[in-house]
Amino acid sequence: MSHPSLANRVRQGDRAALAKAITLVESTRPDHRMQATALLDELTPDSGGALRVGISGTPGVGKSTFIEVFGLHLVNEQQLRVAVLAVDPSSTRHGGSILGDKTRMADLARHGSAFIRPTPSGGTLGGVARRTREVLLLCEAARYDVVLVETVGVGQSETAVARMTDVFTLLVAPGGGDELQGVKRGIMELADLVVVNKCDGNLEQAARMTLGDYSSALRLLRPRSTAWVPVAMPVSALTGLGVADVWDRLQEIRSALERSGEFALRRAEQSRTWMWDELSERVLSQLRSHPGVAAVLASLEHEVMTGTRSPGSAVDLLMQAWSAT
Ligand code: GDP
Repeated sequence: MSHPSLANRVRQGDRAALAKAITLVESTRPDHRMQATALLDELTPDSGGALRVGISGTPGVGKSTFIEVFGLHLVNEQQLRVAVLAVDPSSTRHGGSILGDKTRMADLARHGSAFIRPTPSGGTLGGVARRTREVLLLCEAARYDVVLVETVGVGQSETAVARMTDVFTLLVAPGGGDELQGVKRGIMELADLVVVNKCDGNLEQAARMTLGDYSSALRLLRPRSTAWVPVAMPVSALTGLGVADVWDRLQEIRSALERSGEFALRRAEQSRTWMWDELSERVLSQLRSHPGVAAVLASLEHEVMTGTRSPGSAVDLLMQAWSAT
């Protein structure tokens, strides 16, 4: 069943309609999934218009403070419409959410040109990433100009977010000493921009040192892009220092990527990984729900865990069970 009126209301930027559409795509009810798929199909031609920005950083670096200040700059100073989404696999374990706390980004959340959506709860990282992509598509259809996708800097979710965004930003804060705050090298390699936050008051000197550390570290990495060499820049979400510059930099990156053709390539890759992630999720879920597989899955898993059967042999048996009717 299609949703012409809901789709049209989403296109008009109606926030209540967008929230309703999101509830539909996040639902696990089969009838909702069918409606969601029809809606997404209908709105796909209207998507693609936003700059998709990934923002990562370990807890405490000031992500929500920065996103609020940055978002307010975009809506007030740049007259842009901004959506904020999150991918937080830890929320699937704790049932909480990095955006679940209503007091986060309260001023931005109240702004008529902003839309803030907590991370969908429940399910695997793959499941969460899949829903976030769909929500991103809906936000673009609702004519948001910038979609910020936030993630906690702990690992796999970074890669998932980098694969669904055009520009990936790493937020860091002044650390004690020269160690790069446990930021994994792999996450640094994804970054197009490193933003050093808390460059204010008695943290300023430490922030400048951190800036130097990251600038040198970035020079040692092989750049992700041939069109753009990643840089580190100072900001303060508290005083507003550098916040406007971040937007200028993001636009610079976008232009550089567009000129070289890499922007279109990244978009094409985003769609390709989306398709494969969707396929893997669906194939796995079909496999799990197959009666023959379900009948042997627990015992095979147990045998693998206790070392009485090799994982490869268990998979052979599972594939056999799956292909038997
Ligand atoms: P998140 O966990 O990354 O979302 O971090 P929060 O935004 O919750 O911020 C963590 C702490 O850092 C809070 O106590 C903030 O007030 C503080 N903080 C955030 N941005 C700044 C900043 O620019 N300067 C200073 N001095 N503190 C900040």
